[in-house]
Amino acid sequence: MYKKLFIPGPTHVRNEILQAQAVPMIGHRAKEYSDLQASVTPKLQKMLYTDAHVYLFASSSTGVMEGSIRQASTKKILNTVCGAFSKRWHEITLLNGVAADKLEVAMGQAITPALVDEALSSREYDAITLVLNETSTGIMNPVKDIAAMIHEKYPDVLILVDAVSGMAGTKIEFDAWNLDVCLAGVQKCFALPAGLTVCAVSDRARERGKEIPNRGYYFAWDAMDSKYDKHQTPATPAISLIQALDVQMDAILAEGLENRWARHSEMAAYIQDWARKYFKLYSDERYLSQTVTNVENTRGISVADLNKELGNRGAMISNGYGNLKEKAFRIAHMGDLQMEDLVWLTGQIEDILNL
Ligand SMILES: *Cc1c(COP(=O)(O)O)cnc(C)c1O
Repeated sequence: MYKKLFIPGPTHVRNEILQAQAVPMIGHRAKEYSDLQASVTPKLQKMLYTDAHVYLFASSSTGVMEGSIRQASTKKILNTVCGAFSKRWHEITLLNGVAADKLEVAMGQAITPALVDEALSSREYDAITLVLNETSTGIMNPVKDIAAMIHEKYPDVLILVDAVSGMAGTKIEFDAWNLDVCLAGVQKCFALPAGLTVCAVSDRARERGKEIPNRGYYFAWDAMDSKYDKHQTPATPAISLIQALDVQMDAILAEGLENRWARHSEMAAYIQDWARKYFKLYSDERYLSQTVTNVENTRGISVADLNKELGNRGAMISNGYGNLKEKAFRIAHMGDLQMEDLVWLTGQIEDILNL
């Protein structure tokens, strides 16, 4: 049976978007493809409030995280860790042989400008990794404030942001915030099928990349730039997904960016209130995510059983991540889900659990 996805990726994909992929294939060196990339790129730049280069990679987000790490630093990287996905940045950095330290806070807590300031004060670092929205805990880090502090006090530090579960669901002003790399796979707030990653890269990050001999091949910014002005990519792009992305970007801009951010905030507030009423919020109330809520399982319910019964009724939520399994559960409110979907979902959960 079809299940509507209330999990933090992949998210529910509208029929129109599925259909947008079902069109004849075009050659990636043909004018038709260049026209497609030339059409979609400015829409992405508009959504990210940026004039910087925005690349499209046929890859999941993790691939582009790895590519970013390989061309970010000639010194040492500071990896901030507040959950499973921010920890992934640290693992990727170490496994690529790049010098790194981690700044870690407990699950459910946020990375703050003061913590980052203290860690960077040793002046060993020339890049930092952050997660905008820590999907494993439901925390949204204050990236704007952290970036402002870094820009003022540590101007040589490149700011790499994993915005996978935030981009297209919450406002990210790439230029005004002075970010250097900001990436997201399209299977979360963009509400597209998986397999494509969008990545904005600043001019200075592109210059830094060229200084690093072993920057890799597939994800190298300068390799992407060799075809950028022709509106092409060096390797074969995920053409069908980009066709769907172009249609989806029109829908996003037609909704209106401010309206889209507001819709996500309203859905977040609704689920947070519901969680406070029947359970408890897992994470620090000051930094709650706008796109996914982590609910502490204070009633000791079986999350697996709940999800099984939701499945019979046509929906799916997420268990707690990693060792939070059964101790918490997550409801995503991102992408093309609407308030009425969440009202329906909470009604079903209340009915199943006799709340
Ligand atoms: C989903 C997610 C990822 C991993 O994305 P993939 O597309 O599976 O590589 C990374 N970071 C965050 C914050 C995520 O939510």
